[in-house]
Amino acid sequence: MRLLEERILTDGKVRPGGVLKVDGFLNHQMDMDLFQVLAGQWYQAFQNDGVNKILTIEASGIGLACFAGVAFHCPVLFAKKTKTKNIDGSVYTTRVESFTHGNIYDVIVAKEYLRAEDRVLLIDDFLANGAALDGLCDLVRQAGATLVGAGIAVEKCFQPGGERLRAQGLRIESLARIRSMTDEGGIEFEP
Ligand code: 5GP
Repeated sequence: MRLLEERILTDGKVRPGGVLKVDGFLNHQMDMDLFQVLAGQWYQAFQNDGVNKILTIEASGIGLACFAGVAFHCPVLFAKKTKTKNIDGSVYTTRVESFTHGNIYDVIVAKEYLRAEDRVLLIDDFLANGAALDGLCDLVRQAGATLVGAGIAVEKCFQPGGERLRAQGLRIESLARIRSMTDEGGIEFEP
């Protein structure tokens, strides 16, 4: 999507280790007009799929997911990071390895908010190695809900997550697909 690609070229900054900083408009300060357009693109892609729940992961997916929730007129649920062990069985739990922080953490959703009858669209800001999406897919699976697909703002195609998850049958709509990034700041997109 041209608008997002141009914004990445103008305001994004490449950091060593294949990290793109987009703090000015995507995941620290957030550009609401841009978010609305991105959500509209995901709506176009998935409007006929009966989506009745948006699922994202704390924290940087939440803003985008809220706009998707407005577009689809459905609730937005975010997987919460937790250090507390669940003992009463009221939550689904999964483990996620953070690409940007390099640690592993547990995330939970309450069982009462993710149900077998739900048709779930996953939303996140980035797709890199796919660990965040793996975790969200696992939560949907545990609930016995239907996984409709995933809407991603920025996919880094030089990392393996997108190819692996598509091969597993997940439908992924990424709005900017980065083919390569150099530490000097060069960014190339997939056509
Ligand atoms: P994955 O789990 O697919 O490896 O990485 C996805 C998660 O890591 C996203 O939720 C996002 O917050 C973070 N992430 C991955 N790559 C980048 C990046 O290049 N820049 C930023 N800002 N976040 C990233």
